[in-house]
Amino acid sequence: MAKRDYYEALGVSKNASDAEIKKAYRRMAQKYHPDRNPGDEDAAERFKEAKEAYEVLSDAQKRAAYDQFGHAGVDQSAGGGYGPGGPSPHDFQDIFSDVFGDIFGANVRGGGRNRAYRGHDLRYTLELTLEESVKGTEQQIQIPTHVECDACKGTGSRGATKPQTCPTCNGHGDVRVQQGFFSLQQTCPRCSGTGSLITDPCPKCRGRGRVEDRKTLNVRIPAGVDTGDRIRLAGEGEPGEKGGPPGDLYVQVAVKEHEFFEREGADLFCQVPIDIVSAALGGEVEVPTLEGRVNLRIPAGTQSGQTFRLRGKGVKPVRSNRQGDMLCRIHVETPVHLTKKQKELLEQFRETLHDTGGKHQPQTSSWLDRAKQFFEEWRS
Ligand SMILES: [Zn+2]
Ligand SMILES: [Zn+2]
Repeated sequence: MAKRDYYEALGVSKNASDAEIKKAYRRMAQKYHPDRNPGDEDAAERFKEAKEAYEVLSDAQKRAAYDQFGHAGVDQSAGGGYGPGGPSPHDFQDIFSDVFGDIFGANVRGGGRNRAYRGHDLRYTLELTLEESVKGTEQQIQIPTHVECDACKGTGSRGATKPQTCPTCNGHGDVRVQQGFFSLQQTCPRCSGTGSLITDPCPKCRGRGRVEDRKTLNVRIPAGVDTGDRIRLAGEGEPGEKGGPPGDLYVQVAVKEHEFFEREGADLFCQVPIDIVSAALGGEVEVPTLEGRVNLRIPAGTQSGQTFRLRGKGVKPVRSNRQGDMLCRIHVETPVHLTKKQKELLEQFRETLHDTGGKHQPQTSSWLDRAKQFFEEWRS
């Protein structure tokens, strides 16, 4: 029987790229793999043909020899072929794991159905108020998880009937593939290594044996946490598979914006508006703190933007011994919607300012002087 052209065997053109050749081989291997076509001689022949073609065309040197001399260039039986023998076991495994690893998700070098898998880690973002994050709290959270399907008792089969033993691997989960001298073990492509086949899948879990559920957990949040802090709950992630350990749950803290305070490390910042009279004469304002309230003394002549520190009224971060402070930033508010009487009083007050030569408003006076000088210099 005349040997078919390798390019023809893979259904690619003579100038196909390596990627095209690999893709074509995958397609052929998937279609004609003996495990998928038991007892089909024709399929087995096509598979063998494609495999041989791929071995040659995926190797740059062999492909060059084939392009120049045809089958004689690579066929050992014809003499003068490439290399001392066929592919070494090493080469062969590379080809095999490369192609079949992708097709069947199989692992050539081991595996099997009894491998245990650790469950996935889960992440949960927990929103807290500033007070909760500073003082610590206990929160109940609900996280999505998978539990055993109660309709099939985790078997994946309708009515919890026993799944059928996989006929391809006889329940072993792996199959041996004979390729010339080499016998390779690979995860059974029919049952994906589970050893059993579900012929009548459970309608509730669609044969997976597990269903999505929510579980409720109590999470203790230590005092002083801040946005970005994570709390690890060991073993509260997704359950493991086939006896593997469960994953962990990471609770990520996100502190909500507060009406009064902004936290920066151990310190709290707070904006305090005061009226112009208190700013000028001095006084006291009541400011809120996380424990209640405290009187802040405003000295006479306080300016907008000045900051006063209330020691120890800040936060003690979770990984620190420092008790922070509260910083009150003053904002002097200009009065609005004045009555006639108030306007008259302020007019009278303005006249008194002129009498004393501007010493009551040193910044304004000096700025006006400098501005005046600037205009004059510019004009001349
Ligand atoms: Zn089920
Ligand atoms: Zn099987």
